[in-house]
Amino acid sequence: MNPFTVRLKLHGNLDFFLRSAVPCRSIERSLSEKTSVKDAIESLGVPHPEVDVILVNGRPVDFDYALADDADIELYPVVTSSPTFKYKRLQTIRCSRFVADGHLGKLARDLRLLGFDVAYDPKAEDRQLLRIMERENRALLTRDRRLLMHAVVKTGYCPRSQNADEQTGEVIRRFDLLDSITPFTRCLRCNAPLRKVSMSEVIERLEPLTKIYYKQFRLCTGCGQIYWAGSHFSKLQKRLEKIRAHCEALGSRT
Ligand SMILES: [Zn+2]
Repeated sequence: MNPFTVRLKLHGNLDFFLRSAVPCRSIERSLSEKTSVKDAIESLGVPHPEVDVILVNGRPVDFDYALADDADIELYPVVTSSPTFKYKRLQTIRCSRFVADGHLGKLARDLRLLGFDVAYDPKAEDRQLLRIMERENRALLTRDRRLLMHAVVKTGYCPRSQNADEQTGEVIRRFDLLDSITPFTRCLRCNAPLRKVSMSEVIERLEPLTKIYYKQFRLCTGCGQIYWAGSHFSKLQKRLEKIRAHCEALGSRT
C-alpha cells in the first residue's frame, strides 16, 4: 500500500490532549497501512469518548471508518450547543450515573452533594472501575487518558481542571445536567439516597444541642449517617453556589 497523509484538525478544547508543548490544532500524519479513524485519533493522545463528531473530507463517519487514502479529518468535542448538531453524534450526551477513579475523590463528593449517583472507591484498580462502568452502565470519570482510551469505554470524560469545583462544573456541562441537580438527596460518604425523617426517628442518636437547634433531618438509607442543617450544611450551601457559578461561567463560553 502506498503511504498516504491524513490531516487532523481539532476543534473546541480537544487540543488539551495533544502532547505538543506548542499550542497547535492541526496535525499531519503519514500512514502506510489501513488505519481506523479511532486509532488515528487516539495516536494523537485524544481518548475516543471525548470526540463527538468526526468529519472525513466533510462527511460524518463512525470510529471504525477505515482510512486508506489522503484525507482531511475534523474532530469535534462534545458540546451541548454547537453547529455540529446536524451531524451524526458519536457520544451519549446525558448521563447522571458515574464511576470516578481514585484520584477524583473531591469531584465524587461534589457530584453526590448535587444528588448524582457516583460510585467511588479510592482503592479501586483500573479493571474494577471498568467492570463497574460496564455492569452498572455508568460514565467513567478519570484524568488517566490511557484508561479512557480502553476499548470497552463507551461514555466517559477527562476533567481538564485540577480544581474540584471547576471539574464539577465541567461534568455538569458535559453531561447536560444543570436541570437535574437535586442537592442534599444523596449520602456524601456512601452514595446511597437520603430519606427525610422526623426527629423522633433519630432522637436517640442526636447530641443534646442538635435536638434543640435543628428540626429537619435526613437519614442515609445505606450507612445510617444522619444529616441536618447544621454548620456543615451552610458550608455545603456555599460550595453549591460556587459550583453553580462555575457551571454558568463554562456555559457562557460554549
Ligand atoms: Zn451513607
